[in-house]
Amino acid sequence: MKRVFSGIRPTGKLHLGNYQGAVLNYVKMQEEYNCVYCVVDIHALTTLSETPVLQKNINDMFLDILAAGVDPEKAVLFVQSHVPQINELAMLLGMVTPLSWLLRVPTFKEKARQHPENINYGLVGYPVLMAADILLYRADLVPVGSDQLPHLELTREIVRSFNSRFGHTFEEPQAKLTEFPLVVGLDGKDKMSKSLNNHIEVSATPEETAKRIMTAVTDPARQRKTDPGHPDVCNVFKLHQQFNAAECPIIEEECKKAGIGCVDCKKRLAACINSTLEPLRERRAILAEKPDYIEEVKQDGAKRAGVIAKETLAVVRDRMNLK
Ligand code: SF4
Repeated sequence: MKRVFSGIRPTGKLHLGNYQGAVLNYVKMQEEYNCVYCVVDIHALTTLSETPVLQKNINDMFLDILAAGVDPEKAVLFVQSHVPQINELAMLLGMVTPLSWLLRVPTFKEKARQHPENINYGLVGYPVLMAADILLYRADLVPVGSDQLPHLELTREIVRSFNSRFGHTFEEPQAKLTEFPLVVGLDGKDKMSKSLNNHIEVSATPEETAKRIMTAVTDPARQRKTDPGHPDVCNVFKLHQQFNAAECPIIEEECKKAGIGCVDCKKRLAACINSTLEPLRERRAILAEKPDYIEEVKQDGAKRAGVIAKETLAVVRDRMNLK
């Protein structure tokens, strides 16, 4: 069975965007592949603002991922820093990675623009750490959207560079092209994102969810309930299309003839999202009462990941003549 590796950053509680875009895919892939899912805490340190809440964020991520249906019996689920071999491999891969490759990466340029006060070595080396994640666990496939293909290509370049100097050691990982459904943010300007505060957390209460949805931007031309609306430009309608497809034709019709107000329309959306998430929220509440079980999952995941990591690193050290 082919091995899949995917890392998810512990940014706190999952929101609808990363739930739909990544975690549902995790649940599906664990049935078809040998999956290694890693909560990448070291990556989170590249922007130090996340450090004080790191452990809470990791815990929330574990609760959400497990409640969403990732099964630690089927997939290896662990915290990146719990397998220390990652640091050594990243350092060793750095020796075959020209700095010019890293400086041209668009996400580095973007992050350097966002945080000019903290352009650190870790940020530049981020793609090497990513390559180390994939190669340490000898993944055959990495699920990526088409926009992330250049990142994987850099890993493949690092593989070629390493193999050409030290002999064939790594296989080039392949992209598992995946469509990540884009969930629009409540502000209607961008995709759902925690940093833009336009998101809905999957573990929010039904009341919190309804309250958040009430703040969503709608058709800007619709000032009064008696004005006919334009669902095609309405953000709330886009969310209906993703989470309440069955009711879309009737909502579209009613909106266009001013037969439904935006408040009622949002209430319908909230009801649908809440009923979709209800089973996940129930499972999460049960898991939250079992901190020992979560700890066990983390330790067991690190142990299983560690076995693969040690094997890989032993070969790498041997090839590089490190005794
Ligand atoms: Fe949007 Fe619904 Fe209001 Fe129409 S009724 S503008 S679809 S929120």
